[in-house]
Amino acid sequence: SAPFFRFLPDEEATLQWGGSWAATLSAPLVVYLQGDLGAGKTTFTRGLLRGLGYDGAVKSPTYAIVESYPLPAFTLHHFDLYRFTAPEEWDDAGLDDLADGHSICLIEWPQLGEGFAPLPDIDIHLGHTETGRRATLNAHTETGQKSLEAWFK
Ligand code: ADP
Ligand code: MG
Repeated sequence: SAPFFRFLPDEEATLQWGGSWAATLSAPLVVYLQGDLGAGKTTFTRGLLRGLGYDGAVKSPTYAIVESYPLPAFTLHHFDLYRFTAPEEWDDAGLDDLADGHSICLIEWPQLGEGFAPLPDIDIHLGHTETGRRATLNAHTETGQKSLEAWFK
């Protein structure tokens, strides 16, 4: 199916747009967040968590590998595999226990866990442009497609 696109002129736009997914988001869902360092993957996640009503700090999980946010309707796990030196680290760190089919999993640098991290319902690529960021979203499952259609409606 065709990708969805969104232009994000500044950080605030990314926060707002991430938050706008909260109204229709439901678990389980696996989302890959792709793009270079500084593309806005963590900013997007922060916006989504704000939209879901989470008031606390949203830290980049670069060192911790995962930060988990228990919310009323589901737990959101925010992974960052940037420091993986081998994809097996997904299993070694026990991360499979978190991707339990009841949660939302957002995964930064998912390619570093290839073959071990769960396959995505949706991937979101954030790319730098001269004046901001451009998001490209692709669904890989029926669930992912329905979620994107509801969000972009
Ligand atoms: P990543 O997790 O992809 O490495 P971060 O979200 O941690 O990236 O950082 C994005 C950086 O880029 C922040 O410093 C933010 O202020 C800046 N920025 C500039 N424009 C944007 C934009 N349109 N969307 C998101 N972040 C932006
Ligand atoms: Mg990040």
